[in-house]
Amino acid sequence: MERIKITEQISYCPATEEPLSADVGFIRCGEEWWIYDVGSSTEAAAAINGLQGRKNIVLSHFHPDHTGNIANLEYDTLYAGAYTCRSLKRGTAVEGHIYFEGGVHLFPLPSSHAKGCVGLEMGEYAFLGDGTYCTVKDGQVVHNAGLLRELILTLEALRARFVLQSHGNPFLCPKEEVLSSLREIYARRDRGNPYIQLESTKPKDPYSFLATAFSGS
Ligand SMILES: [Zn+2]
Repeated sequence: MERIKITEQISYCPATEEPLSADVGFIRCGEEWWIYDVGSSTEAAAAINGLQGRKNIVLSHFHPDHTGNIANLEYDTLYAGAYTCRSLKRGTAVEGHIYFEGGVHLFPLPSSHAKGCVGLEMGEYAFLGDGTYCTVKDGQVVHNAGLLRELILTLEALRARFVLQSHGNPFLCPKEEVLSSLREIYARRDRGNPYIQLESTKPKDPYSFLATAFSGS
């Protein structure tokens, strides 16, 4: 699978729907690679296994479209949220901000979408996986208001000006654009209700698409 270039250092393999496989991010730091999510398609696995040099893998969260290939990969280190490490029985848990030589910054990403999301910031760009998306609770498409507030604060504190959201169309968005739509959702919360219900979404809307794909997980 051809990698799409974002900068000299950053590229990605786009997500697919058949099979459901998340975008895979590649960051070149000298002789080392940082790989954000590993997808579940054979093409994504081949793109990762074809790289030369030391490989550090970061998993955004435990959902199989982001992690499915992990058993078929050769790599040197693996970082993920504690919940993902426990689920996959591997890796080093990201429980606070971690800054690596070369500029990679890993951080916990509070998220309604899944337990233990992790983001990766490199310069002007931050990979967020599905972290900005909602979840399904009792058949309703919702954000958790408390987690959404923490997510907004986390994104505000990043120096990145662009964010990369899995399955997103477009994948790459100005951070301020994403923040303003999250703030809009947060503004709709009701006092006393921990959940903010989203309006019914079109079938192709990535929110409903993701929420349906992972309801109950
Ligand atoms: Zn997900």
